[in-house]
Amino acid sequence: MVKGAFNPFEMAQIQFDNIAEKLDLDQGTRELLRTPLREYTFSIPVHMDDGSVKVFRGFRVQHNDARGPAKGGIRFHPQETIDTVRALSMWMTWKCAVVDIPLGGSKGGVICDPHNLSMREQERICRGWVRQLAKDIGPNRDVPAPDVMTSAQHMLWMLDEYEVITGEKRPGLITGKPVGMGGSLGRTEATGYGVIYTVREALKQLEIRPDQTTASVQGFGNVAQYAIRLYNQFGGKVICVSCWDQEDQKAYTFKKEAGIDIDELVGITDRFGGIDKDKAKNLGYEFLPGEAWIEQNVDILIPAAMENQITGENVGKISKKVKLIGEGANGPTTPEADKVIRERGIFLTPDFLTNAGGVTCSYFEQVQSNMNYFWEKDEVLGKLDTKMTSAFIAVSDLAKKQNLYMRDAAYVISIGRVAQACKDRGWV
Ligand code: GLU
Repeated sequence: MVKGAFNPFEMAQIQFDNIAEKLDLDQGTRELLRTPLREYTFSIPVHMDDGSVKVFRGFRVQHNDARGPAKGGIRFHPQETIDTVRALSMWMTWKCAVVDIPLGGSKGGVICDPHNLSMREQERICRGWVRQLAKDIGPNRDVPAPDVMTSAQHMLWMLDEYEVITGEKRPGLITGKPVGMGGSLGRTEATGYGVIYTVREALKQLEIRPDQTTASVQGFGNVAQYAIRLYNQFGGKVICVSCWDQEDQKAYTFKKEAGIDIDELVGITDRFGGIDKDKAKNLGYEFLPGEAWIEQNVDILIPAAMENQITGENVGKISKKVKLIGEGANGPTTPEADKVIRERGIFLTPDFLTNAGGVTCSYFEQVQSNMNYFWEKDEVLGKLDTKMTSAFIAVSDLAKKQNLYMRDAAYVISIGRVAQACKDRGWV
């Protein structure tokens, strides 16, 4: 890591240390929770389609499992680092705790770019990842799920490899599986919808009607697309989305002041959330630099791409009109930018609360798998809404009562719950 460069794990630890101080946590609990319990790094040799062998680097980090089996996604990303995975695993612990589901936190990744890999090559990476970890993951140990650039298909390959190794059907190994293969209806929509359930509750507090708001969204992958769909159903208007362009290796913002048409845009988007520039131009979209999403004159900003997007450098560009930031991504705001947002009094719903819909639905998938009885989509989404709404209310009630910033209130609840579980088990 370059000195002075953004390090998400340092950021996660700074956030943790601040709350540990507020909660007056004892030294042992602090030491235990600011570092992952277990880390695995390994090589995955893969036979490529051209006959060569390429070695990919893989990771799995289990941050904490005091409240239940570790839980968290796997990312395929060319810039993946162990520190990113460490941070994300810690955020998973807080995420499961804030929505009060009986799971701990973990995260995994592979340094690779699926844009440049055939599906067969990706399958071999998935199977290789499981072969390296088969003894250290499992339905009652550590349960993976999809994340950036991984999908239900990747999950099924991983499950299949695991079942071949163990010689048993074990659908509880992994969540985010395809519907019909042990997956839950609503899982695809869950993270994006969860973001908007939270945004809806925040708007209630601000006494603003969703149908009188506009939003700017960063990202156009699974989370962003479903967030936009539900926000549109509530009457909100998204005026732009920003996304990565693989060809030019940079991001662009696609804007339509009258409101983007989600179906139209999805129709010209690849499976990684990249929008076809020429087609977008023909459809009348304005073309702006990638960062332009942050300076729009809107009521709501929804960063739903990657970490480290709202920074000390660009936070000043946020318009005076912005009243709410709903963090759909994990770790999109640096501590420096967070300080400015806090001082400006913009209402912020923090990442590990706002985007907890995915893992909450993963938990529902586990429950349904265990019963071998699957709920209708409406039932899944109804339960998801209830869980997200009550988590939001618990956090905002605490924020009001103790005059806390929403991020701090969410941390107080999560860290408090995990610290208590460690204590109850006699670990600290
Ligand atoms: N990858 C998602 C997240 O960051 C979901 C994790 C899961 O379902 O385990 O929350």
